[in-house]
Amino acid sequence: MKSNIDIKALDNAHHLHPFSTHHELREKGPRVITHAEGVYIYDEDGVRILDGMAGLWCVQLGYGRQELVDAATDAMKTLSYYNLFFQTTTPYAAKLADLISQKTPEGLDQITFACSGSEAVDGAIKLIWYYWNLKGKPEKKAIISRERAYHGSTVAAASLSGLPFMQGIFDLPLPRFHHIGPTPHYYEYGNAGESEHDFAMRCAKALEDKILELGPENVAAFAGEPVMGAGGLMLPPEGYWPEIERICRKYDILLWSDEVICGFGRTGEWFGCQTYGFTPDIMTMAKGVTSGYQPLSAIALNQRVAEPIINADTEMAHGFTYSGHPVAAAVAIRNIELIDELGLVGPRGEETSRYFQSKLKTLDDHPLVGQTRGVGLLGALELVKNKETKERFAPGGHAGVVCRGHCFETGVVMRAVGDTMFLCPPLVITNAEIDELFDLVRTALDKTAAELS
Ligand code: PLP
Repeated sequence: MKSNIDIKALDNAHHLHPFSTHHELREKGPRVITHAEGVYIYDEDGVRILDGMAGLWCVQLGYGRQELVDAATDAMKTLSYYNLFFQTTTPYAAKLADLISQKTPEGLDQITFACSGSEAVDGAIKLIWYYWNLKGKPEKKAIISRERAYHGSTVAAASLSGLPFMQGIFDLPLPRFHHIGPTPHYYEYGNAGESEHDFAMRCAKALEDKILELGPENVAAFAGEPVMGAGGLMLPPEGYWPEIERICRKYDILLWSDEVICGFGRTGEWFGCQTYGFTPDIMTMAKGVTSGYQPLSAIALNQRVAEPIINADTEMAHGFTYSGHPVAAAVAIRNIELIDELGLVGPRGEETSRYFQSKLKTLDDHPLVGQTRGVGLLGALELVKNKETKERFAPGGHAGVVCRGHCFETGVVMRAVGDTMFLCPPLVITNAEIDELFDLVRTALDKTAAELS
């Protein structure tokens, strides 16, 4: 879909992109994606690229689904906008709150809306502080997170994240945010001879140590992604989450599961906490709730947290003009219904995940691949120079950038963080498309190996 307008020139002249080094971008010019269908995106030259990342981990149903277009169109015609402030609701927001509460784990059935994952995270922080104020424990304000966590990019969400590159340049993190290590990623941080279970207990003990250091009376909550996503797609070691839950209960710390990536079928269940066997007090969700077709996010609270807020004499003075926007909510409702109707959390999802994971494993034999790992429709591989010693290519991150470039050239989107490559395809991907995906990835790995050797 080549247009007469030079999009690259326009973009270079006026557009500052998220998470980009601008002088590089302006030298090379951006890649222009003009349309998309199913699991494929197309650039301005009409080149077809298999989107192995579902956009930014969000397009659960693939691109161009007419049902979602119809849901948005109907809502836009019926109620193009109305807000949820001052004791007002819409059928869309009310139905969506009900539908989400049917999918969340038992008890997490009080829902409030926002527009992005970061806004939901920000809101959750405020509601946690508000909860402890209402409970007469205003000193409980510290929030503990993990090194390499990603929770978004607003001032508070970036503070909660454990990624120094997005903090220091903005004078973050704010006070009250604490980060513990080691990051629960056995391949990278497990000691020689340490079992995965012992490693999990060491990671969880870091939480207990931090709580005791700060004083349990000062700690409000622990926040974690069930599978750590944007910081490096790291799966929790065996036994990790139940131990984290036990520690939170022991010290009366709220447990918050940030489900922005893991929610809506990504790990095989509706939510990642269900896959990993823990029940949080608070959940944040976004992305897959609308398959990325509309910006919408939500916070789910359990009765314990919601009850003092519901009974408070003060108003919950928090929310946004577009919280639970009717068009976005209509799309979310239809999206969740379709995930159900298509069996994406259920038989079809299980079969697709099984096939995807078995194909991912076949890359273990590649000379560049130190480890493959995954759950549901998430997959990662580590690029190494030496498979036995896990030695990396120098400088760190270079192999990832090279591989990402070869992926695009070959016709598949993979993301890189350092030398870790990720896959997160749409949940509707077929087995034939999975075959194509892994053929393309293997070709890109071969090209990467040739360039690095
Ligand atoms: N939380 C998690 C776990 C995420 O992965 C992300 C984004 O990737 C966010 C929050 C922020 O979401 P958004 O980019 O919609 O603000």
